[in-house]
Amino acid sequence: MKQSMSVDHFDYIVIGGGSGGYAAARTARETLEKVAIIDAADTLGGLCILRGCMPSKTLIYSAEVLHLAQHGKMFGLNIPTATSDMQALHTRKLEIIKEFSDYRQEQLQSDRFTLFRNRAHFIDAHTIELDDGSRLTADHFMIATGSTVSVPPIQGLANVPYWTSDDVLDLDFMPDKVIVLGGGIVACELAQFLNRIGSEVIQVQRSPHILKEVSARAAEVVEQAFRDEGIQLYAGTKLQSVSHKNDRFSVTFEHEGETLTIDAPHLMNALGRRPASDHLGLEAGGIETLKSGHIACDEMQRTSNPKVYACGDVAGPHEIVHVAIMQAEVAAKHATGRFADPVNYDTLLGVVFTDPQIGIVGLSEQQLKEREIEYLSADYPFNDHGKSILMEAKYGYVKVFADKQGTVLGAECVSKDAGELIHSMAVAVSLKANVRDLLKVHWYHPTLSEIWSYPLEDIADELA
Ligand SMILES: Cc1cc2nc3c(=O)[nH]c(=O)nc-3n(C[C@H](O)[C@H](O)[C@H](O)COP(=O)(O)OP(=O)(O)OC[C@H]3O[C@@H](n4cnc5c(N)ncnc54)[C@H](O)[C@@H]3O)c2cc1C
Repeated sequence: MKQSMSVDHFDYIVIGGGSGGYAAARTARETLEKVAIIDAADTLGGLCILRGCMPSKTLIYSAEVLHLAQHGKMFGLNIPTATSDMQALHTRKLEIIKEFSDYRQEQLQSDRFTLFRNRAHFIDAHTIELDDGSRLTADHFMIATGSTVSVPPIQGLANVPYWTSDDVLDLDFMPDKVIVLGGGIVACELAQFLNRIGSEVIQVQRSPHILKEVSARAAEVVEQAFRDEGIQLYAGTKLQSVSHKNDRFSVTFEHEGETLTIDAPHLMNALGRRPASDHLGLEAGGIETLKSGHIACDEMQRTSNPKVYACGDVAGPHEIVHVAIMQAEVAAKHATGRFADPVNYDTLLGVVFTDPQIGIVGLSEQQLKEREIEYLSADYPFNDHGKSILMEAKYGYVKVFADKQGTVLGAECVSKDAGELIHSMAVAVSLKANVRDLLKVHWYHPTLSEIWSYPLEDIADELA
């Protein structure tokens, strides 16, 4: 670790030591000697490990186990009481996260890198200044500063003590009642978590459907599951105002022509995140941003300043860890004169960890239509499939899209463990497999995965 007032030159400097930043530093260090990482956080590790993927999936899995236990009767089991122990849940999560963050901290603090625990900003096109006043230059820079919770201009919202996902992931008690604002992935995953641990949850979403990243059909399945579990879901609303008085939050919104006001002791603002690009001196660095605030990048992740690259949430367009890592590796290879294919978003894989989960890969039906690509499609429901019936996991379906020659272009899956199931189609899409090739695969019986063989057969039947 280094704290110095001197001007130092590096081969490569990364600002932000999260998933994207660490991947860029590791990749650059394969061929370069002097690589620096700058991160201002009190605890190193980045969003995914500390306040994102890993804590949320730890808690969501516990809530799924609890949900199954509470529905033991369906499986012929007598489980007299199954309730959450929030202290124990919290402690388990902290222990798991600590293991991941200790490992990441070791990596960042290894003598392969020079680590600065500072905030950084550009003062010109090739120099950054740290908050201790020291200045650093480099042959190439990577900006990987991530994202932060956004506060849309809803009357009163900015002035109330709302929770963010950080607070919900840090709960060591069960809140009685929570209003969740938003219907994106984080909002939905945590709304269901709260509901399953025993909170009363009212979710208020602006668009007609939750989860705008997926098809309306996929979203409708999750909406149905949420309502069946007792989440009070209002979609297609117009949020008017938020206030906080006597330790209670009130939210007023329009819904189906009526003005409604709901209230609860807790409010989670999950209306989205925005790139953490403030105070980075982007203008001084000659680095342009898009309207969304994301740093504008070419296909090799290079910004308008050819010495500077960006990756991860600060660059967009997808706030997904493996995308941040792919972008980082492409960028660092490009900066160090090595070959790299740009990230291919036509094979993008996305997962929503609700229950049922959603997995999507490749081109969606909407994208196929927008691009005027002729396609074949077939689907199959989980309520007519052996393994899902015996698992009482009957929500959802699989759907496959292929071109007229049978090459798989995309797929969607809504089901128990869809995040696992979608990977066989991710391989198919990325390797441009034909449905006929995929039918040569041994699809084991009885598994959830074998359901893919039904739409694949239907598409194969349609091929000339
Ligand atoms: C609740 C939640 C659940 C999620 N679940 C998933 C999931 O299941 N799967 C998935 O793929 N994605 C998930 N995500 C998204 C995922 O966590 C992010 O896409 C990813 O972590 C972004 O990585 P990053 O490297 O871009 O940024 P980060 O990991 O946020 O790293 C940015 C780093 O930059 C540092 N920094 C910022 N500004 C400066 C500065 N000026 N100077 C120095 N340092 C600075 C910060 O301290 C931070 O350590 C989730 C997100 C949330 C909020």
